Amino acid sequence: MCFFEQIRFKCGDWKWSHFRQHCNREYRIGETCGMKLIMATVNVQENCKTCDKIQTKRRRQQQEAERIQRWMKEPHKYKASIEKARDTINELEEEIQKLWSEKQKKLNAIGAQSQPYQSQYQAYQ
Ligand SMILES: [Zn+2]
Repeated sequence: MCFFEQIRFKCGDWKWSHFRQHCNREYRIGETCGMKLIMATVNVQENCKTCDKIQTKRRRQQQEAERIQRWMKEPHKYKASIEKARDTINELEEEIQKLWSEKQKKLNAIGAQSQPYQSQYQAYQ
């Protein structure tokens, strides 16, 4: 098992970071053994890139929604604009869903990998 830093984002997501220390078993080979363990967690005061993108898209949705609200005072005059803004909101929603499911997939992949490492670590105690 080799030790790595973990970066934890404000949004709660995390990723592996710098390599810190080899385990005894693989030291001679000079490579990491492929079993990652967390040596230290570095908290950063920012969201991961995916959450940033999601937030930006949410803000744009909000702006479009506010415009629709204004236009609804004269719905006949702004009919086309309102429809266009609704389309934009729907498109943004689809993009957000996609980003979200990609993020979940990535986190699940890391989680699935970290399980066996932990049990292995216990076995060495
Ligand atoms: Zn995130």
